[in-house]
Amino acid sequence: MSMVDRGLLLVLSGPAGVGKGTVCKALREVMPGLVYSVSATTRQPRPGEVEGVNYFFKSQEEFKRMIEEDALLEWAEYVGNYYGTPRQFVDDMLNEGRDVILEIEVQGALQVKESFPQGTFLFLAPPDLNELENRIVGRGTESQEIIRKRMEVARAEIELMDHYDYVVVNDVIESACDRIQAIITAEHLKKDRQ
Ligand code: 5GP
Repeated sequence: MSMVDRGLLLVLSGPAGVGKGTVCKALREVMPGLVYSVSATTRQPRPGEVEGVNYFFKSQEEFKRMIEEDALLEWAEYVGNYYGTPRQFVDDMLNEGRDVILEIEVQGALQVKESFPQGTFLFLAPPDLNELENRIVGRGTESQEIIRKRMEVARAEIELMDHYDYVVVNDVIESACDRIQAIITAEHLKKDRQ
């Protein structure tokens, strides 16, 4: 074991609308030592959102500069806006031995996986993902075209799941949170043996 152990980089990702934000918030409440990485984004702040707390709100030009300066660990375009993880803060916290969590969409998570494979990749899945195919085909109410599109998305999501270390089903927030805590504990034990 080295003198100062680096912290764990935890990447919490998953399909849109699965509740990543809610689970991440609940997790931070029960694990106050966990450092949350505040992302940069070009989207407009929502009412109540605070600069530097929810996001670092950037213009397109500022965001592009961050990309050029290699200041982002990963970035992605999502529904017309850019989102990215400032690299320096994550590095600093990990070097201090703190665990850091990124709550990001799937494209970005796969980029982190490329550049930082020693991270812990968590895929938050909707409770009915396994049943999705049966439901989509079996329901019989959707047009062929809609079924085809949904299956495509579902298949892409299921395929991407294979790139992750863990799949956590978000059935009940507290349970999902408990499972992620157990994963973090296990990952620390695993790391201590290396
Ligand atoms: P929202 O606009 O609802 O805050 O976020 C939209 C999506 O962007 C969510 O899926 C959120 O997880 C994702 N996101 C937030 N920050 C980042 C980031 O730094 N990088 C990437 N790739 N996705 C992010």
